[in-house]
Amino acid sequence: MSGKTDNGGAQCGCLTPEQLRILREHGTERPGSSPLNNEKRSGEYRCAGCGTPLFYSGTKYESGSGWPSFYDAIPGALGTTTDTTHGMTRTEVHCAHCNGHLGHVFPDGPPPTGLRYCMNGLALTFVPRDGGT
Ligand SMILES: [Zn+2]
Repeated sequence: MSGKTDNGGAQCGCLTPEQLRILREHGTERPGSSPLNNEKRSGEYRCAGCGTPLFYSGTKYESGSGWPSFYDAIPGALGTTTDTTHGMTRTEVHCAHCNGHLGHVFPDGPPPTGLRYCMNGLALTFVPRDGGT
């Protein structure tokens, strides 16, 4: 027996009510509430709703916003819409595969993209890379 298991977790169907509120109803978690804010390991960030890889750890940076932030996404992983709620025009970001709401993208990020993907940590599942740092 190999003992090899898949601990991805995204296929288990065990999303919490708070995760469902964000993914399905465009909710927003409290800033600073996500343990992913302090996640520094190498790996990839997957959609909590369907397990699609969305971001690599190398594009994560500390924006000071209180939400996990990235300056670039995996090509084709995300879709965007224009969000004009709350009297602002923002760009809403969702998973291109399952349409789950993830957060927003702002044009005030660092080089080379100048973008700041401001994500709800609850909408993401972090999968550490095996056997390396
Ligand atoms: Zn998804």
